[in-house]
Amino acid sequence: MTQACDIAALRDDRSAASLVPADFDRVCHIAVLSVCGAALIGAAVLKSSDEGLSFLGLRWPFSCWLHDTLGLRCALCGMSRSFSALAHGDIAAGVQFHRLGPAVFAMFCLQIPYRLYALALGPRRASAMLRRCHIGLVVLLCAAVLANWFVYLGGLLL
Ligand SMILES: [Zn+2]
Repeated sequence: MTQACDIAALRDDRSAASLVPADFDRVCHIAVLSVCGAALIGAAVLKSSDEGLSFLGLRWPFSCWLHDTLGLRCALCGMSRSFSALAHGDIAAGVQFHRLGPAVFAMFCLQIPYRLYALALGPRRASAMLRRCHIGLVVLLCAAVLANWFVYLGGLLL
């Protein structure tokens, strides 16, 4: 009897331990889904212009610290305005505000179905190939954003 209880307790411990990565994955999926959803909703609600973002005629108060203090553009300068322009269907302005804005915007949009699919799987994970493709695209896009910024910085030196 004691041995049976020990085995049952051991099984409970193992199942509890195996839930930890799934719970962590679930929290990550919900966090990314929330951030991307909020960014896309914000982009649709805010209006972009050369002066910045606005909401119902009121100027968006947040701006880039690096640009405000040193006059340098950061890697993401113009991304919010690009998102807003793209959310309103203006692809040319989206590219003008940030040349990688459309690619990053598309990645944010793709996060919605990907994260919903991953959450729908429950404790199971998406296929290894799908996860590798997803990580590869995210890493490639981050590298492209950084490379774009280095090109800008290099242009300032030359
Ligand atoms: Zn910036």
